[in-house]
Amino acid sequence: MRLILLGPPGAGKGTQAQRLVARYGLVQLSTGDMLRAAVAAGTPVGLKAKDLMAQGALVPDDMVCAIIADRIAEPDARNGFILDGFPRTVGQAEALDAMLKDRKLGLDAVIALKVNEDALLARVEKRVAEMTARGEAVRADDNAEALKKRLDAYRAQTAPLIDYYGGKGTLNVVDGMAAIDAVERAIVAILEGTGSAAKRKPARQSAKKVKKAKKVAKRPAKAVKAAKKAKKTTKSKAASVKSAGRATRARKGARKAAVRGTRKAAAARRPAAKKRAGTARRTVKKAAKRKSGRR
Ligand code: ADP
Repeated sequence: MRLILLGPPGAGKGTQAQRLVARYGLVQLSTGDMLRAAVAAGTPVGLKAKDLMAQGALVPDDMVCAIIADRIAEPDARNGFILDGFPRTVGQAEALDAMLKDRKLGLDAVIALKVNEDALLARVEKRVAEMTARGEAVRADDNAEALKKRLDAYRAQTAPLIDYYGGKGTLNVVDGMAAIDAVERAIVAILEGTGSAAKRKPARQSAKKVKKAKKVAKRPAKAVKAAKKAKKTTKSKAASVKSAGRATRARKGARKAAVRGTRKAAAARRPAAKKRAGTARRTVKKAAKRKSGRR
């Protein structure tokens, strides 16, 4: 597997490259690391690159292209590699195309990590703090001033590669603002879909599944419509049942009221004396009951 990780400084290319190395057994070819090693070793390349790097400027294309051409020819790169920090200009991308063509090799994917520029300075500051805490030497270009230049260089010289690879159909954009694990999962998902023919098959199947899922997703809409229709029908049925019920109740109520009216009228007709006598009789009876209860 051969892939390119694209993104501005601090986008997380190095972090993701290390994870992909562990997962797929690829080699990570970071031109930044190689140039820093050259600077540290004081090689002719290192001497030329030192000041440019410290300022945050790019080193000349022919220099990095020569380094990469040598590196991808080494045996450990045969299984595949991750290019991290290369290509950084359209010229480098064209040179890489020629190198790969010469060796009859292709690129499996170009992965661009998309990040919010506002977050980059904070990320670099964090990296500086962590390296200082571990007692490691801080990169000469990990300061606000050089970072600004690195970002300018990215915008002017590297960002055009998004269109370059976009036009070739190899570009995949991943949200680099997500958590490290989530970014890794997104990259792995892309790689598993662009691997060998056998790996591509499930991707096609999943496209079928997506189609089916879309169909299924439409179904509930139909069901909702049907349910609404049914609800309307039951509603109107319920309304007629309700009104029928109301009519019955009204009829019953009218009958009861009539009965009550008759009773009231009858009571009114009863002589008041008879009423009083009845009450007196009931009072006597109650008193007798209480007396017998006490005995
Ligand atoms: P960054 O965190 O900015 O991506 P790198 O470690 O990839 O850092 O690169 C550090 C510096 O090394 C760059 O600013 C540049 O000076 C030099 N460099 C690395 N790769 C390239 C390249 N492909 N072309 C030109 N210069 C490069």
